[in-house]
Amino acid sequence: MKKFFTSLLALLGLAACGQQGYENADVNGFAAQIADPDVVLLDVRTAKEFDEGHLQNAVNIDVTQDGFVEKAKSMLPIDKTIAVYCRSGKRSALAAGGLTKEGYKVVNLKGGIIAWKEAGKPVVAESPSEDDTYEVDSFTTPSGKTVKFHALVHASIRIEYDGKEIQIDPVTKLGEKTIDLAAMPKADYLFITHEHFDHFDTTAIQLLSGDNTQLVTNQRCAEMLGYGTVMANGDMLRLANDITLEAVPAYNTTEGHQQFHPKGRDNGFILTLDGLRIYIAGDTEDIPEMAEVKDIDVAFMPCNQPYTMTVEQLVNAARVVKPKVLFPYHYGQTDVSGIPSQLENDGVEVRIRHYE
Ligand code: ZN
Ligand code: ZN
Repeated sequence: MKKFFTSLLALLGLAACGQQGYENADVNGFAAQIADPDVVLLDVRTAKEFDEGHLQNAVNIDVTQDGFVEKAKSMLPIDKTIAVYCRSGKRSALAAGGLTKEGYKVVNLKGGIIAWKEAGKPVVAESPSEDDTYEVDSFTTPSGKTVKFHALVHASIRIEYDGKEIQIDPVTKLGEKTIDLAAMPKADYLFITHEHFDHFDTTAIQLLSGDNTQLVTNQRCAEMLGYGTVMANGDMLRLANDITLEAVPAYNTTEGHQQFHPKGRDNGFILTLDGLRIYIAGDTEDIPEMAEVKDIDVAFMPCNQPYTMTVEQLVNAARVVKPKVLFPYHYGQTDVSGIPSQLENDGVEVRIRHYE
């Protein structure tokens, strides 16, 4: 075993201790960190250990396998905090060191899943099998056509309209939730707001792309993909006689949060289907430009910290935009249950769907 760890150390190019550069957290500190849905939880044990029981929403990359660092780099966004654990805290310390060296901000669980369980914290075995149906809301356009919204997950919305398939920010997997995009029709239109992993998933894009798929996104995602119709804030696109798309600003305004979504980089969208106006806000705060977002029938507006809005900001934003129907989305662990009553007297009908 000693030899094994020594070779692992060599593999990761680490000093055994000293300036480790990452944070060691006890069970409660770790639990507090991973309560933030934007922290990526990483289990570095073997797949077999993982299947026998792991922390909810963890992704599994075995640190003892060759190419750990490369695999981690391909799967873990560099701008997210990585919360790492193993059985007892030894392997995760090695992984934490390796990831820190690659520029990640890392938190390591002291004592591993053993300490976690001893503290009475929950673990889950296997991914729960997902019900493969999603909540659907139907709306009627001014000329009587039907628009159906399928609540896939978080910021992923599937829209059916007049035989057309529209997918907004599709992802194949988020936390424990797997979205079976392969079982869905190819998209006629794919709209991607920005590059973050909960919005931009190249596997999802591949699964939904067919011969006639048109992908519309911002400059950065188009560069990463090597294709796509680029829209900047303020651009308008007529996709068909009865389908228009407008790109609108989506950015952070709070001090210390601006780096998440800098002004001018990412898009929100106003999608008009046969006169039905749909606002998909993207990752944004309650920005002044929302005053120009008018006559909205259906709005999707985000709510989670520190990346988008607080509940209070969302309520304010909804009072500005005044959609007929509001779907809070992108809300993660945020408690959105109080929003409907707060907007009761504003003429905004709030529908909470599974957009965690
Ligand atoms: Zn984002
Ligand atoms: Zn996001």
